[in-house]
Amino acid sequence: MKCVYCETPEIVARTIVTNKVAFAFPTNIPIVPGHTLVCPKRCVRRYEDLSTEEKEAIEELRVKICGALKTVLGAEGFNFAWNDGESAGQSVSHFHLHILPRREGDTGIYEYEPRKFLYRTGSREPSPEAELQRVSERIAAAL
Ligand SMILES: [Zn+2]
Repeated sequence: MKCVYCETPEIVARTIVTNKVAFAFPTNIPIVPGHTLVCPKRCVRRYEDLSTEEKEAIEELRVKICGALKTVLGAEGFNFAWNDGESAGQSVSHFHLHILPRREGDTGIYEYEPRKFLYRTGSREPSPEAELQRVSERIAAAL
């Protein structure tokens, strides 16, 4: 199966920056202007598939892109996200970190609302502390 990030000439043409093992380019369906993706050059799907060198390379480009987005677009904040696995909404099987530059009062955010994504909608009742401790213990036991 073809990979759009590896085999689309337009992406090569719009690549912003590369380093030894990673590259960054503006996505074709930006949520906001400057919405950028950072990928490893190697075609791997999941974060856990990345080597340490690739993670460091992606971080290097993330920092560079953020600096540039502050300068060029006046970014005041950022959303960072990746969908890790099909069940988490990953539609392209090539790891990609989303960088979304944000400004106070910006528009164009229709489906992505971090507070809805990261916070339970509806009830804001905290979970019982004992339940949270069990969750903590289960995760810690699996480390
Ligand atoms: Zn690929």
